[in-house]
Amino acid sequence: MDAVNIVDVVGEFVNLRKTGVNYKGLCPFHDDKTPSFMVSPSKNICHCFACGEGGNAVNFLMKHEQITYPEALRWLAKKYNIEIQEKELTDEEKQQQSDRESMFIVNEWAMNYFQDILKNDPDGIAIGKQYFRSRGIRDDIIEKFNLGYALQKRDALALAAQKAGYQPEFLVKTGLCYGEGDLRDRYAGRVIFPWLNVSGKVVAFGGRLLDSRTKGVQQKYVNSPDSEIYHKERELYGLFQAKKAIVKEERVYMVEGYTDVIAMHQCGIENVVANSGTALSNYQIRLLHRFTSNITLLYDGDEAGIHAAMRGTDMLLAEGMNIKVLLLPDGDDPDSFARKHTATQFKEYIEKNATDFISFKTSLTVENVTDPVKRSEAIGGIVKSISVIPDQILRSTYLSELSQRLGIKEQTLLNSMNGFIRKDIEDKEKEQARTQDDPPQQEFIGLHSVDDQTREVERLLIRTIIRDGEKIIYQNVETDDGQKISLNVAQYISYDLGADHLQFHDERYNQILKEAVEHSGDESFKAESYFMQHPDIQISQLATQLAIDPHQLGKSFQVKEREGSLRQHVLHLVLDLRMDIVEKRLKEIRTQLSQVGNDMDRVKELMEELKETQELRNALAKKLGNDVIV
Ligand SMILES: [Zn+2]
Repeated sequence: MDAVNIVDVVGEFVNLRKTGVNYKGLCPFHDDKTPSFMVSPSKNICHCFACGEGGNAVNFLMKHEQITYPEALRWLAKKYNIEIQEKELTDEEKQQQSDRESMFIVNEWAMNYFQDILKNDPDGIAIGKQYFRSRGIRDDIIEKFNLGYALQKRDALALAAQKAGYQPEFLVKTGLCYGEGDLRDRYAGRVIFPWLNVSGKVVAFGGRLLDSRTKGVQQKYVNSPDSEIYHKERELYGLFQAKKAIVKEERVYMVEGYTDVIAMHQCGIENVVANSGTALSNYQIRLLHRFTSNITLLYDGDEAGIHAAMRGTDMLLAEGMNIKVLLLPDGDDPDSFARKHTATQFKEYIEKNATDFISFKTSLTVENVTDPVKRSEAIGGIVKSISVIPDQILRSTYLSELSQRLGIKEQTLLNSMNGFIRKDIEDKEKEQARTQDDPPQQEFIGLHSVDDQTREVERLLIRTIIRDGEKIIYQNVETDDGQKISLNVAQYISYDLGADHLQFHDERYNQILKEAVEHSGDESFKAESYFMQHPDIQISQLATQLAIDPHQLGKSFQVKEREGSLRQHVLHLVLDLRMDIVEKRLKEIRTQLSQVGNDMDRVKELMEELKETQELRNALAKKLGNDVIV
């Protein structure tokens, strides 16, 4: 953890800009339109001010990459060239490794296996490599995209994998093989395009058929089925190789196929990804938006290309992306076009010919349409597209352009657009009403129900422990047996609450207090960094939240942050907490009294307790009223 620089780690996935001493970017964990995600190099943590996600580098990786704690540590070790001494696993332990981890491992192995065949096997060279050569793909590009070849033999990989010790279960789960008992290779006789996720792990493969004899009988392309580590609608081919260039160029080119991506890289344009023929999902759009707000859709100019360019565009607009469209001429696709041109020529061509999406849609769907009904429908479609754009100024700019271009009054278009916006708001409200019917998630693990006031006081107490737990607030306190000791914040709170067996309602809080006390003797103990780097993700995340938010108090509560010394602050909070507990007890006693009926003994008992509790409350109130002196 000492070697880790949070800015480096988050920066691999989020485009960060420096603001003052911290960095900011679009939050990868929620649909963020303004940069809400803050990275603090001094605290070595990250935090989203909108959705609250974040934590230390391990928390971030676990959440972002959906990986386990050990996987996150390995990731960091690899990044910082730190060797991890992992013990040799027994068969039993191997079994226990998570499925996901095993799947990544077997995929990584398979990628190397396919690459090795392409480079070293006679068939691999004669068939696989020959294919790439015939397409003009250079060796450095083959290497960059880890391209490979799968032998014709129907179980070549299945046998090699099992010989190398990989379990059939994971060969099937990853989709490398299929069948039961005698496994069959999914990609036999195909050239292989591995899919890496945004952090470079092998999640899937695409295999392209070469053999002309079987053409037409089998599919040209075969892709991995969805699995625990691969969701087709979440991945973008080439993103791993493109992400740095996307940030640098502040733009991403969207193409249709693997070969388009590869050919463009070879030509020198690296900010390019493909989603292999499906409409972009919201997930993919957000993934891209983390790196840039500018996208150019690059397709061939035929019917299919036009169709592809039109899909999913309203979602891109709604995400606040600026879309341009370019259809390539004369039956060219990005692959063939890139092979005929240099990067400079290609870029110039795009620069000159890419049109803004709204203009593109207008010229495509409205112009040359004379049927009034069809024309009106098409105009409605464009106005609807404009209506989802979050930026109001951009919306009205588009609208007035459209008005001029089509000779329709701007007010008419505006009315129509407002209709779409209203409808959208209504839909969202309905959706919200529907989800609010679901029972709220329980926030606290405690067994008792806690009211908000108590919750807030507990939160403030634990925040003080996290921020200042190691700071001494009492010196030379004499104990019963005459020893003189010092108490830090954590020790004092533990001692004060412990005397009356009081506990927090949230188990995480009790855990934090316990550990803070346990480590109080450690010389270099700093509560804040200790808890923010805590291996328990729940605790490190909570610590980050509490350490960061300055005064996130519920508005309706009377708990105020007091000026004054740390000691006064702690004493007040403890008193506040006790006061809440006492008042709650008073309420309970009164309720019990009203329900007790004729049992006079019980009445007497309760009356006595009521009296005692009231006295206690008065004493507490007095202490709270006169600035506490202990
Ligand atoms: Zn967020």
